[in-house]
Amino acid sequence: MTKDSKTIPATLIPGDGIGPEIMDSVVEILDTVGAPFVWDKQLAGMAGVDAVNDPLPKQTIESIRRTSLALKGPLTTPVGGGFKSINVTMRQEFGLFANMRPTKTIIPGGRYEDIDFVMFRENLEGYYAAMEHYVPVGDDPKGIALSTGYNSRAECRRIVKFAFDYAVANNRKTVTLVHKANILKLLTGIFLEEGRKVAEEYKGRVEFNDRIVDACAMQLVTNPWQFDVIVTTNLFGDILSDLASGLVGGLGMAPGANIGEKAAVFEAVHGSAPDIAGKGLANPLALLMAAVMMLQHVGRQDLADRINHGIKKTITEGGIRTKDLGGNATTKDLTAALKQQLS
Ligand code: NAD
Repeated sequence: MTKDSKTIPATLIPGDGIGPEIMDSVVEILDTVGAPFVWDKQLAGMAGVDAVNDPLPKQTIESIRRTSLALKGPLTTPVGGGFKSINVTMRQEFGLFANMRPTKTIIPGGRYEDIDFVMFRENLEGYYAAMEHYVPVGDDPKGIALSTGYNSRAECRRIVKFAFDYAVANNRKTVTLVHKANILKLLTGIFLEEGRKVAEEYKGRVEFNDRIVDACAMQLVTNPWQFDVIVTTNLFGDILSDLASGLVGGLGMAPGANIGEKAAVFEAVHGSAPDIAGKGLANPLALLMAAVMMLQHVGRQDLADRINHGIKKTITEGGIRTKDLGGNATTKDLTAALKQQLS
């Protein structure tokens, strides 16, 4: 068996809208470097609804259960029809408790240079697991809207520990915990409390500090270089990670991973972009960078480095950029240039 043999089974979900176009590009590039994945192609999103009237078919879930590893294209959220959220279902099904989003400058000449930090968002609890209902006031049956979120001590500990373990394994110096414990004293106070305990266990190896979420938002804009690893709760992480992607070129450059005990699902942060679907304009780099994270996850840092280097050369020295990055390359142009760079 050679080093480049395809030996790792992985589920491949092309997705909706621009999904199939960017997934074709990514698979071609992975093949060019000899990535080890054996793909099991499955449907989800509108493609699943069209085929079997289910946005997350049983067969897709069973495939991920078998492989524990998936590369997922963006999925269009079906409107109406009583379908459950695909992302929430997947997170719960596979206990995908950690949403990891790296933020790194690749394109020079932007507003920010040399940014390099990683954000971990708790993926299962907080207000996103909230029970919501209305309380009538006078004649208005919906006079008050009530939402009850929760954070468990065990989950707080697990995500903060995950961030610290990542810091140790990747030579990161500091973990910053982001909260709002001054106002949401219990809901995010427990996160800070548990985080401080975990930090004690890593004393001497990783520095620890904390920020209140509003101050953190401001500092991400005024001095993002101070951050190394950030760990935060579900809602804050959702908002701050999009802010972070805006520092380094926007959604077309933002990859993400959902990691749990039973599986890991890698995807671009962006959606199915119906406005440009089928036009050959989509930027495949966010999904490609998600595939790079998947290579790191299975221990192929060598291939991850090779692709990262190829991306940098192609879009900086080669000047090959899609429209969202100010260029005029099509998805196919960029794919061809990347393949040439990597072969
Ligand atoms: P979107 O991310 O699809 O698009 C926002 C804007 O960014 C659009 O103008 C689009 O053209 C552009 N864009 C996005 N990705 C791009 C790329 N790779 N290259 C170039 N331009 C790109 O967000 P939306 O329009 O709000 O959502 C469309 C659908 O996607 C909705 O059904 C939404 O629910 C779904 N969605 C899915 C996911 C996911 O599967 N993880 C994430 C976000 C949104």
